[in-house]
Amino acid sequence: KYSPFLVFLFGSFLAQAQNPEIPSSVENVETKVDSVLNLMTLEEKIGQLVQYNGSWDLTGPASDMDNKQKEENLKRGMVGSMLNVLSVEATTEAQKLVMENSRLKIPLIFGYDVIHGYKTMFPVPIGETASWDLEAMEESARIAALESAAHGVNWTFAPMIDISRDARWGRIMEGSGEDPFLTSKVAVAKIKGYQGNDLASPTTIAATAKHFAGYGFAEAGRDYNTIHVGENELHNTILPPFKAAADAGVATFMNSFNDIDGTPATGHKILQRDILKGDWNWNGFIVSDWGSIIEMVDHGFARDKKHAAEIALNAGSDMDMEGGAYEASLLELVEEGKVSEEKINDAVKRVLRVKFKLGLFEDPYKYSNPDLLAQIPFQEHQETARDIARKSIVLLKNENNILPIKSSVKNIAVIGPLADDKDTPIGNWRAQGEANSAVSLLEGIKNTVGSGVKVTHAKGAALGMGERSFLAPLEINTTDRSGFADAVKKAGNADLVIMALGEDAFQSGEGRSQVNIGLAGLQQELLEEIYAVNKNIVLVLQNGRPLEISWAAENIPGIVEAWQLGSESGNAIADVLFGKYNPSGKLPVSFPRAVGQEPLYYNQKNTGRPFSPNSVTYSAYTDEKKDALYPFGFGLSYTDFEYGDLQLSSSKMTPDASIKVSFQLTNSGDVEGKEVVQLYLRDLVASTTRPVKELKGFQLITLAPGETKKVTFEISEEMLQFYNAERKWDSEAGEFHVLIGGNSRDLKKSSFTLNK
Ligand code: BGC
Repeated sequence: KYSPFLVFLFGSFLAQAQNPEIPSSVENVETKVDSVLNLMTLEEKIGQLVQYNGSWDLTGPASDMDNKQKEENLKRGMVGSMLNVLSVEATTEAQKLVMENSRLKIPLIFGYDVIHGYKTMFPVPIGETASWDLEAMEESARIAALESAAHGVNWTFAPMIDISRDARWGRIMEGSGEDPFLTSKVAVAKIKGYQGNDLASPTTIAATAKHFAGYGFAEAGRDYNTIHVGENELHNTILPPFKAAADAGVATFMNSFNDIDGTPATGHKILQRDILKGDWNWNGFIVSDWGSIIEMVDHGFARDKKHAAEIALNAGSDMDMEGGAYEASLLELVEEGKVSEEKINDAVKRVLRVKFKLGLFEDPYKYSNPDLLAQIPFQEHQETARDIARKSIVLLKNENNILPIKSSVKNIAVIGPLADDKDTPIGNWRAQGEANSAVSLLEGIKNTVGSGVKVTHAKGAALGMGERSFLAPLEINTTDRSGFADAVKKAGNADLVIMALGEDAFQSGEGRSQVNIGLAGLQQELLEEIYAVNKNIVLVLQNGRPLEISWAAENIPGIVEAWQLGSESGNAIADVLFGKYNPSGKLPVSFPRAVGQEPLYYNQKNTGRPFSPNSVTYSAYTDEKKDALYPFGFGLSYTDFEYGDLQLSSSKMTPDASIKVSFQLTNSGDVEGKEVVQLYLRDLVASTTRPVKELKGFQLITLAPGETKKVTFEISEEMLQFYNAERKWDSEAGEFHVLIGGNSRDLKKSSFTLNK
């Protein structure tokens, strides 16, 4: 006897075979989805909405269900997905349980956090975004997809496209910073990289736009915290990257732990059902964040697990990540009429659609292909990782051209806790990136300098972060100054000191909120002691969040922001330090002068009291400047770029005719360089208050020494639209400023009028 599903599959195979022209078009997928849905019992449908954790491997301890029970449920087809199942063997084993035992044989989809690489590690997202190089970001996602697909992963929980507003929030490392335009561009590039043009290929995986929505606005930067945000800011700042992701065809969304003005995101019907699935007409599925459905009980929004399931499903959360709420309660809820079968059907269809698009029905083991694994060009990936890493480096300060390091420098002391650290560059959310596998800064320097240069090294002090892991609590407890003397001695004898300071790999990331964002432990003290004996210092920072480095910015002549750059970190940094690569990175996030300025972002609004030179009664601080130490978009080069005056093709614009703004950009230094040219706009008067400037375009321009190029941006009416007082995306007539420059602070200005 054949199961009806096999008959269906065989039928569709025959149809394809007879008509090989049939493209795997949406209609085709829809027909298949409907045919499968028609075969399913209510219990089987609910099963598709359940996701189990593989507890790192299938045989590991399950969170609140024993493995035997999990296995039984898999065999009965009561599970739609698993996460954290981490090898081809383990995914095959789990898939077999379903394919060889369940009635309908609907394949599992395996998810995993592939955030900045799988084995080959790329810069953490905040760092990679500093490259502003969308092709590079697409490429690293393509490589991560290939490597993870070959290890059994079907679906990554990335990109994180939350706008981050506060450097105290540890997860700032996982996103693209503070700007919705830049984050939207990165979102699309990453999704293209992971998903490719064809999800059915064995080398592409499904992507996730997360966390929907508002997670990065956590009050006071405290992870998981409530967000207080009005409709205007929600639509103009938080939602645009998600809209871009939906338009780019991202396969899935993940909702979020936080509540928004009283409603947990996981139970937010307006966000999930009305906006995402309704207005935006997006047809993928929404997975909850880890247990975020049952967490609605802790929020005080649901009475119990069952109530939480009712709220979440009705609000449009399709799959329950390791929460057990759907599994325990949906059947009863449908029987009681509290959740309609129609809504269940819609959720199930969304899950099936993604599985069909991935080609899992055709070949449930498509990601268990040993040939693919054998063909992965890991060496090539390593080279790409080096190139992307150096593109991500931001030169923050270069007094008296201390960089690139001159050939006259014959004795270099490399000092600090991160100097020979091979683990920190791997960063948090490291997937299968091996611990201690990165090229350290010290190794990179030694690989680069010739035999005529002496390199000494001293750690000086430990970071003192205690046990290193994703879940271990951090304790910063260093009082051990015993390494200081050696470090000071070596620094005193050197022509140049390279100080390697910053954060431990697990100091930023989920649950890593901090009230102090300076150089933790004894690092500041060490820096000052070294400075007392040798002022010729280049400070190399490795960190996942903006740091408070005002003292260094004032005193240290050279500062390089090197984030956590991944596998090739040390080589990439050395390329920049020794001038093999001219840095071109620009900050995707503001660096504060003091932590008390947070939340700090460039696209703020004017108050009624913007500035008054003779009074203190304007909106700022009495004990610190108001602006950033290093603003959004900032980054230096080994050459200088001069911006000519802006020329507008017309000072008047109408909705159907865009205008052009152009100017001459000159490389006035002696080396080739790449500049990230940035276009900002300001809407002067509108039906709601508007930011003082908003990024609306950027271009990467490479110029030879002495070369001048005309750079042109087109400004269309669409770029002037915003979510206005009438709750519509529209532009409003009036005056606009056009601002162009190499960072968000130093800009050339012109203006035009929109007539409607
Ligand atoms: C995080 C998600 C992640 C999930 C699965 C949660 O704690 O917030 O971003 O994808 O865990 O690991």
